[in-house]
Amino acid sequence: MNSTEKLQPAVIIDTSGYAAAGEEIRKEAARLLEQKIVDAVVGYQAGRRTGSSQPVVITDPAQAEKLVFSPTCVNNLSLYLTKAKKEIRAKGKLAVVAKGCDLRALAGLMGESQLKREELVIIGVVCAGVHAAGVASGEPLTDATIAKKCRECSVHIPEGADLIVGKLPELPNLSPTEKELLDKLDAMTPAGRWSYWKEQFTRCIRCLACRQVCPFCYCEQCLCDRGRPQAVDTSPRPAGNMGWHIVRAMHLAGRCVGCAECERVCPMDIPLNLLNRKMAQELKGLYGHEAGLTPTEKGPLTSYDEKDDQSFIK
Ligand code: SF4
Ligand code: SF4
Ligand code: SF4
Repeated sequence: MNSTEKLQPAVIIDTSGYAAAGEEIRKEAARLLEQKIVDAVVGYQAGRRTGSSQPVVITDPAQAEKLVFSPTCVNNLSLYLTKAKKEIRAKGKLAVVAKGCDLRALAGLMGESQLKREELVIIGVVCAGVHAAGVASGEPLTDATIAKKCRECSVHIPEGADLIVGKLPELPNLSPTEKELLDKLDAMTPAGRWSYWKEQFTRCIRCLACRQVCPFCYCEQCLCDRGRPQAVDTSPRPAGNMGWHIVRAMHLAGRCVGCAECERVCPMDIPLNLLNRKMAQELKGLYGHEAGLTPTEKGPLTSYDEKDDQSFIK
């Protein structure tokens, strides 16, 4: 970086409306619980570090005062509504706080018959952006601290929610850093791309945090954990890592909604959402399908049509 670049002021993104959105979330959660419209609300509460936040499930209207909304509300709360979280579903009818990108995951889960719209109250929250992984809680939201996915967001307003709280501020134009990298990868030779991904996946320690946080990894037994027969080597060695990432990408193709939670939690900074986006691009090109837009639609790789192209079968 040269000295002129150092003097460039950060582009501050206006999040002054987040506190008011939090107030509206608290009011609505208390009302839903008081009137027994729902049995529990999944939202965000303040975390242990000053200014941070974390997911919370409340069941008592008095607990609604805990709920907050800020740029640290990074988690995709749809995860807590999947069958991987049976104890939360067992509470009864649920309400959930959802940003636009989380709402896409809810729609995808409905398309896969994992959730029923009528059994869910969605408190949509207008969102200008959230922090990237590793940003300190008290930092303002700027072009340097915003999550990559938010730089290209098209769902700031969560259309389709039961209630939408908050107001969209004027947003700056941010360069689409992830798209730029995707274009660079597309311009490489297949061998160049293979070597890029091989290098990324070599760093994987198989902690499986990416799987645990993904709303679409809800299988009760993951194929990659099976020992007899073993589909994928479970130790973090290059061949097994490549197998795991190929299986992961294929199982999520046409289902992944690009919430980037897998990438956020990866301790090895592997650019997983780049691969997700590449797969999504292919699915759009081949089938015109975009995951999470229609709550009644399954991904093309999980449905069969007699008119499907069969020419690959020799
Ligand atoms: S992708 Fe959009 S809705 Fe999701 S956190 Fe970023 S700005 Fe908010
Ligand atoms: S979170 Fe990262 S390191 Fe852990 S298994 Fe996934 S890709 Fe590998
Ligand atoms: S694969 Fe990653 S980006 Fe896609 S839905 Fe799962 S957690 Fe979100």
